[in-house]
Amino acid sequence: MPSTHDQTASPAFDLAPYKSLDNEELTRRINAVREEMGSRLLILGHHYQQDEVIALSDLRGDSYKLSELAAKDEQCRAIVFCGVHFMAETADILANRPERLARSGGRRVTVVLPDIAAGCSMADMAEIEQVEECWEQLGEVVDCRDILPVTYVNSAASLKAFCGRHGGIVCTSANARAVLEWAFARRSRVLFFPDQHLGRNTALAMGIPLEQMPIWDPRRDELGGNEEEAIERSRVILWKGHCSVHQMFRPEHVDQFQRQYPGIKILVHPECMMEVVAKADVIGSTGKIIQAVAEAPAGTRWAIGTELHLVQRLKHEHPEQEIHFLSPVVCMCATMYRIDLPHLCWSLENLAAGTPVNVIEVEQEVAEHALTALERMLEVK
Ligand code: SF4
Repeated sequence: MPSTHDQTASPAFDLAPYKSLDNEELTRRINAVREEMGSRLLILGHHYQQDEVIALSDLRGDSYKLSELAAKDEQCRAIVFCGVHFMAETADILANRPERLARSGGRRVTVVLPDIAAGCSMADMAEIEQVEECWEQLGEVVDCRDILPVTYVNSAASLKAFCGRHGGIVCTSANARAVLEWAFARRSRVLFFPDQHLGRNTALAMGIPLEQMPIWDPRRDELGGNEEEAIERSRVILWKGHCSVHQMFRPEHVDQFQRQYPGIKILVHPECMMEVVAKADVIGSTGKIIQAVAEAPAGTRWAIGTELHLVQRLKHEHPEQEIHFLSPVVCMCATMYRIDLPHLCWSLENLAAGTPVNVIEVEQEVAEHALTALERMLEVK
């Protein structure tokens, strides 16, 4: 396959004709590319993807697990990430880390995002310029050498690189507590971005009071809307960001289910607001949610607060349990939903033809520092 930057390659196929093909034809053509490329190709499907995309994925998982699995695969030459932009960036950083490039003689793994507009509203809530401005302002009030920046994996590579440069680290929803403990063993304060809810829920569970968790609003000019005193007494400074999907679950939804189905178990993701988390029976990452359902005895009744496609799939895969979606309104990730069979087929056929489209390649200097922060996370048990 020619390199991503091969200027002599023929023009890429146009997306438009793919949109008029039916799912049967698209599936047939996608499978033809999978067969042709064999072990050189890995299609990754995030748990929040539509069923027809998941059915054509080689691996399914949460964002970090997928990148990690892809990075371990020494055969693959191309990754098509059915997820959102930050996930493809992480896959690129891990799959093209220096020691792996040395083993492959410098040949990069091509990472493709089938729809370049598949972003993440949460990741977009923290931009590198805003974080740098925040850091500078914090330095006027407290000693930045005593603040450890922690970014949720749902963030741009530039933010991960910021953490790498400042002794910081990346976390996932599965290891956020272990990461905060690691951070507090080194410094007395944490700047946590971009998800205020994951930061707050994790710190509360560790016994840190709300009074020591000011919220930094990047749209406010002065200290993110805080008094100096609030920053001075802070232990965790929470960036004002959230997931537009998980923020839709409300405490009154929990009350409603508990009234209607006595004994029902409430299972929610830690990106939900603290008032919802406080009422839940089980709080966990996507992996933990799947595991809790898989291990529960038949007949267990659940109301689950996470992305709609995952809840519907759990319902389908566990008919022995009674599974409800913890919201009367549809909460699905609209950006994940952008990845559909036309985009998948289009990106795969271009890849196979040597005209890759939507290639995600993180700038070398950013990738280097982001990898530092990701590797610190891997060391945290
Ligand atoms: S579910 Fe929320 S955090 Fe996940 S990709 Fe969608 S917007 Fe981003």
